[in-house]
Amino acid sequence: MATINDNYLKLKAGYLFPEIARRVSAYAAENPDAPIIKLGIGDVTEPLPAACRDAIIEATHEMGDRATFKGYGPEQGYLWLRDKIAQHDFQSRGCEIDASEIFISDGSKCDCGNILDIFGKDNRIAVTDPVYPVYVDTNVMAGHTGEANEGKYEGLVYLPITADNNFSAEIPQKKVDLIYLCFPNNPTGATATKEHLQAWVDYAKQHDSLILFDAAYEAFITDPDLPHSIYEIEGAKDCAIEFRSFSKNAGFTGTRCAFTVVPQNLMGKASDGSEVKLWQLWNRRQATKFNGVSYIVQRGAEAVYSEAGQEQTKELISFYLENAKIVREQLTAANIKVYGGTNAPYVWVKTPNGLSSWDFFDKLLLNCNVVGTPGSGFGAAGEGYFRISAFNSRENVNEAMKRITEKFKP
Ligand SMILES: *Cc1c(COP(=O)(O)O)cnc(C)c1O
Repeated sequence: MATINDNYLKLKAGYLFPEIARRVSAYAAENPDAPIIKLGIGDVTEPLPAACRDAIIEATHEMGDRATFKGYGPEQGYLWLRDKIAQHDFQSRGCEIDASEIFISDGSKCDCGNILDIFGKDNRIAVTDPVYPVYVDTNVMAGHTGEANEGKYEGLVYLPITADNNFSAEIPQKKVDLIYLCFPNNPTGATATKEHLQAWVDYAKQHDSLILFDAAYEAFITDPDLPHSIYEIEGAKDCAIEFRSFSKNAGFTGTRCAFTVVPQNLMGKASDGSEVKLWQLWNRRQATKFNGVSYIVQRGAEAVYSEAGQEQTKELISFYLENAKIVREQLTAANIKVYGGTNAPYVWVKTPNGLSSWDFFDKLLLNCNVVGTPGSGFGAAGEGYFRISAFNSRENVNEAMKRITEKFKP
């Protein structure tokens, strides 16, 4: 019999979302007419921007014509897309990133996991608490942790993000080699200032560490003083990889396109002590294990950078941010403390009356027929918090907030 990767057995059985689904379907089975509204999932609800849809249709016609048909594309992505990304997302903000450093992919979730292919087994790894579960689970699968103990895996360094530190990831005292940061943050909706990221970059350079920066939600930043990319921070090109995605800015969660930035001058250490370019390893990894994103989808992503695409994605973002504003205002009026939701599509709710995350979940489900996500599911420090997503129709958000304010109004 073939043996298995035992590390998978350490995973805490994908606890969070299946448990939510279980409680919701149990309730729905007993109350088949309950008008349940789901504000729990981190998926978009609005359709693709027209500019992207039209570009996808045009590209589909090209693929159906012998004269314009395309087979395998470059594994790193088409240069016309990488050029536009480098110009619009980086050079226009003063970051010296060029097209060769952009790797197009089918998702940031995949890239966050796949990047571990190029790193050794003995790195000290830090994650925030609460955290996007993908960073942790992929490290568990790769054998970089011990067993789970009270919501934490042995061997990982957890950096709390709580009201006590104003929702910024606390810089560790000891040296770590790899650090996952996500700003604007999922799940807390918190943002990082230039000063905070500068402190991280300074730490990384001082300790020879590498920052894995997830900027999937950068398009939700409305405050002009907040950085969109870690490369806006001096020195970051020497110590950071950045993950970006078209999922949340242009509604590509079901269409699939993202990219990872690996600067040419980033180095890693081989076991013989020599230094190797991380770019070279990632390029080799992608060329061997990945065959690129479809031509059709890359044309759709390119349209994000057209004039119409820019306008339409801005509208999408404003729509979700207005939802987040409604959630913030209504919950505040009901005397519930909220965080985030101004530069991010997530509102991080302090559960009222000291309720646990799951008790508040049950209360909302039973009394209001509203589903959210218990903060404790994102890490031990998320206990006592609750995530509400702004990804929904205006009608559903208004209705859900009406039910909650009626129930909780002081
Ligand atoms: C949604 C999300 C992404 C995007 O993932 P894709 O695979 O590109 O859809 C990345 N990081 C975080 C934290 C997210 O919430």
